[in-house]
Amino acid sequence: MSRVLDRFGDPIFDDLFMRSISQCRAAGLIDGRVLHLDATTIRADLDRERVGTPDSPDPDARYGKFPGKRLAPGYKQQTVVDAASRVVVEVAVTPADRNEHEGAIEAVDRAMDRLGQTPEAVCADAAYASGHNKAALEERGVRLVSPPPKAPAHMGGGGFTSADFTYDETRDEFTCPAGAILQYMSPVKGRPRQRQYRAPRAACRACPLKTQCTIAPQRLLKVSADHAALLRLRADSRTESFRELYRARSHVIEGIFGEAKLWHRLGRAWRRGLLNMLIQSLLVAAVLNFKRLMAVVRPIQHLLRTLMGLLSAHRSKTGEVWTMQTPIAQSVVVAGCNS
Ligand code: SF4
Repeated sequence: MSRVLDRFGDPIFDDLFMRSISQCRAAGLIDGRVLHLDATTIRADLDRERVGTPDSPDPDARYGKFPGKRLAPGYKQQTVVDAASRVVVEVAVTPADRNEHEGAIEAVDRAMDRLGQTPEAVCADAAYASGHNKAALEERGVRLVSPPPKAPAHMGGGGFTSADFTYDETRDEFTCPAGAILQYMSPVKGRPRQRQYRAPRAACRACPLKTQCTIAPQRLLKVSADHAALLRLRADSRTESFRELYRARSHVIEGIFGEAKLWHRLGRAWRRGLLNMLIQSLLVAAVLNFKRLMAVVRPIQHLLRTLMGLLSAHRSKTGEVWTMQTPIAQSVVVAGCNS
């Protein structure tokens, strides 16, 4: 395997993976309306003292959280799967120290390119739930199904959180529980994706709810630049269809990771470096897809052979001979298996 990897590099493996998707699609396997997105860790066999050092034999492996919250060197594989068929439609590899949501939108974009269609929904765990991801998928006409985070606690958990303030997206302002308006002030220093809004000092000074709101002279509210999208995600998460889609997610994606690790050794890095890890991920994903394909193609081939046998037996009585080489039969088999 090492010689094959050295010789062919990764385009051929990407092509193989793409062919596995195309053939699954041609066989009618892929639905493409709902995609599942998740990441899994891949352990690198590397001396712990040499992780991230200049002379490391695996220069790309980094410490990340593995099952049981153990810290270990390795990689993270971002995976996108067609919910209906469990066909893998995109894989990407990063060092294990990257956040799960990093590169998530790019992975969905590549999955859409590979499929040639836009899904109705992308389901992912809470690590992917953010206003940014919700807004980015909305732009693409895709629904994000990912349990949103609660508003961060304020004043040790006893104070009004951002969820207690009503946001008006058109006017870009908040109304506090006492009815005062908080106007946009500026981005948060050093955090350009965070915005801060301020209540009028006079309103806060005279406010009967002030002890629940702030110990400062006036309330300052900090939210993400995609706060409106986060609110839409929270509202959507209360719908039954959202819950139903999310419920179906874990057994599909966990099943795929389990299958890939148990039967195809995805749990450990075969070789070293990011590019080689991507090749490993592409190969395993292609194998999983061809397995899905064979599960439907074999019964079809068997059915065709049975039908042809019956036809042959019937025609032989009338003097005609039908075999699997008959043009009509060939065309059906080719359409089912080789497109
Ligand atoms: S303290 Fe200010 S922001 Fe807070 S509820 Fe009262 S008026 Fe509104």
